[in-house]
Amino acid sequence: AKTRGRGRIAFFDVELRDRIQRRLQLEQDLRMAPLNDELWLAYQPIVDLRTDRRTAVEGLLRWTHPRYGLIFPGEFITLAEESDLINIVGAHMLHTAAREIAEQAPDLQLTVNLSARELDDPWLVSAIRNATYKAGLTPGSLCLEITESALMRDPALAARTLSSLRDLGVRLAIDDFGTGHSSLAQLLTLPLDTLKIDRSFTAGLGRSDEATAIVTSIIAMAHAVDLTVIAEGVEQPEQLEILRALGCDQAQGYHLGRPAPLAEL
Ligand code: C2E
Ligand code: CA
Ligand code: CA
Ligand code: CA
Repeated sequence: AKTRGRGRIAFFDVELRDRIQRRLQLEQDLRMAPLNDELWLAYQPIVDLRTDRRTAVEGLLRWTHPRYGLIFPGEFITLAEESDLINIVGAHMLHTAAREIAEQAPDLQLTVNLSARELDDPWLVSAIRNATYKAGLTPGSLCLEITESALMRDPALAARTLSSLRDLGVRLAIDDFGTGHSSLAQLLTLPLDTLKIDRSFTAGLGRSDEATAIVTSIIAMAHAVDLTVIAEGVEQPEQLEILRALGCDQAQGYHLGRPAPLAEL
């Protein structure tokens, strides 16, 4: 038993060493990734449930690393957020997305994700103004998605930033709604247009009475304050039918379309 125990420890050592090595390597390489053209965007359609038409796409970052291959944002966005790299990566993402949409799909709304650190950046508003202007994208066709937890880090600052963004004409969405512990009253004072229901609730639709009750009340509450509701993570046709019956406005998920390069949509 003792040898087996030591074998396991050795195994985890190797795994841990590889993980740390990969992390350090990625951290180092991410700085150059935009210049090396390794970052690109996958776009996932957002569908209007009344017309069944695609109204918007969410831009999701991808990194094709020369050694490790395709890497998802779950791994590198957190890395970037721990340093100033998020601003470089975020700016690159915004310029690329704005340009691609303006050139190839000007009728679609574009929605992109902002991290907490970007929200705190005093240059955010002018960066967004410049990116849309440069790409020839009207600010009204851009929506920024911000998570509940990012908004709640400093609610007063977030409120000011959101107001300036609103003045610019961009739309604002709260992402992953339901996963944070924000006070609803506080959220409702922010100038938001859209609320995205986190996919953990969508997953429970039709399977758990609790999830269905939560989604029902989120939709009612959001509509009461004139927010558009998007359900994330729709994977099953039954979920879509329930959302339709509940009066949800829009939906997104593998059942409706997977993220893909814009040309493939
Ligand atoms: P998110 O904003 O909540 O984006 C939705 C994530 O769920 C995406 O993962 C998408 O591919 C995935 N997804 C979509 N439909 C389904 C479905 O039906 N089932 C399941 N299981 N998953 C689905 P992805 O692309 O790996 O992105 C993960 C997160 O990384 C995003 O979560 C977002 O928070 C962040 N992210 C992505 N791109 C950017 C970016 O450009 N900037 C920043 N700051 N964050 C980004
Ligand atoms: Ca999002
Ligand atoms: Ca989300
Ligand atoms: Ca998420």
